[in-house]
Amino acid sequence: MSDLLSVFLCLLLLFKSVAPVTFRHHRYDDLVRTLYKVHNECPHITRVYSIGRSVKGRHLYVLEFSDHPGIHEPLEPEVKYVGNMHGDEVLGRELLLQLSEFLCEQSRSLNQRVVRLLQDTRIHILPSMNPDGYELAAAQGSNRSEFGDRLVGRNNAHEVDLNRNFPDLNTYIYYNEKNGGPNHHLPLPDNWKSQVEPETQAVIQWIRSINFVLSANLHGGAVVANYPYDKSLEHRFRGFRSTNTPTPDDKLFQKLAKIYSYAHGWMHRGWNCGDYFPDGITNGASWYSLSKGMQDFNYLHTNCFEITLELSCNKFPPQEELQREWLGNREALIQFLEQVHHGIKGMVLDENYNVLAGAVISVEGINHDVTSGDHGDYFRLLLPGTYTVTATVPGFDPETVTVTVGPAEPTLVNFQLQRSIPQAPTVRRTPSGGQGGRAKVQSRAARKDAAEMRETRRLQRGPA
Ligand SMILES: [Zn+2]
Repeated sequence: MSDLLSVFLCLLLLFKSVAPVTFRHHRYDDLVRTLYKVHNECPHITRVYSIGRSVKGRHLYVLEFSDHPGIHEPLEPEVKYVGNMHGDEVLGRELLLQLSEFLCEQSRSLNQRVVRLLQDTRIHILPSMNPDGYELAAAQGSNRSEFGDRLVGRNNAHEVDLNRNFPDLNTYIYYNEKNGGPNHHLPLPDNWKSQVEPETQAVIQWIRSINFVLSANLHGGAVVANYPYDKSLEHRFRGFRSTNTPTPDDKLFQKLAKIYSYAHGWMHRGWNCGDYFPDGITNGASWYSLSKGMQDFNYLHTNCFEITLELSCNKFPPQEELQREWLGNREALIQFLEQVHHGIKGMVLDENYNVLAGAVISVEGINHDVTSGDHGDYFRLLLPGTYTVTATVPGFDPETVTVTVGPAEPTLVNFQLQRSIPQAPTVRRTPSGGQGGRAKVQSRAARKDAAEMRETRRLQRGPA
């Protein structure tokens, strides 16, 4: 073969490996086509599903990646990306489409890192949570810079900011932290559906139905990785540098945010868009406090740890910048997904190897518990270290273990709980010889439930 021909073939191969991705803004129909195109290219590792509809009836489509799409495999964690919650902040939407094509292509070409990621992880990608807002913003198109900050399409079609639309659970957690009370899975208000927008309702039902462990919510207008809480203890308006309001998992959240910022092309440098954030990360509340945001809700109502990624100064970057942005974010988007494989995970079973869903997994020194999912598996993200971990299920003896977490793979910690020996009945058997003791135990439990429900309702009315 002539040298010239072999150079040509090399160039052709190189071109083939980078060419298929096109960098353009995708309107709704184009976005839907692209999701199905990826699915058709990689049918065995993807699934397209809708979590609901926007105000204007557009589907909120999710593209799922897994070696068994549509199925939760025990001990395989669920992770998600949400883009374009603010309709005019469009980079996340495009990056998530690029990521989808990338995962599909790389898995087809047997990139071992991607193959392994998809074998061990179920990834859910919602490129646009606000397709109605996006269409408005996109229609304004490239003339938008003339409008300065008055960008259209941030809100949904009811003019509601979706990142101020989730039930406020911070008020309860701050009350509970001070006065005692649940530190996880705070309940929704009874009438929550009437208080939120269709897009928010769809997302809440989605994150209640899948036991997500890790998530990021992609925004624009700054370049920084923002971690909870977003709402400060003393809630103030934007413009005030308000007070750092850490979660009990503060160090872990800082690490997750740094993983993104340091794997990103320039986020970690800190100076971006005329603002400075050390390491390219910030506690949400210490930047500016916001109430009813999505990331705080994830942490307080589910097992999911979510951060918010601000990815571009220009909320609607011109098409020519999309490739540079993708190259600046690609490694960070992959590395962040890989972070779900840290800490501890395991099964919670009874003595007969039946799975125990809803088991509470507590880590000594961290006032935020997680629970096992419907399949009895749990995931607890933790930094390297030694921890005392307890699994608790009503009716069973709690089990406590000491476990060391390393920097790499998660440590497998299974629990097999023994049913509690029923307390000797304290009341005399009834003359009919029935179940006096058992009834007594049940009624005690029922009274406790009733007391908890009263407490919950009281808290939902507002803190004391
Ligand atoms: Zn935003």
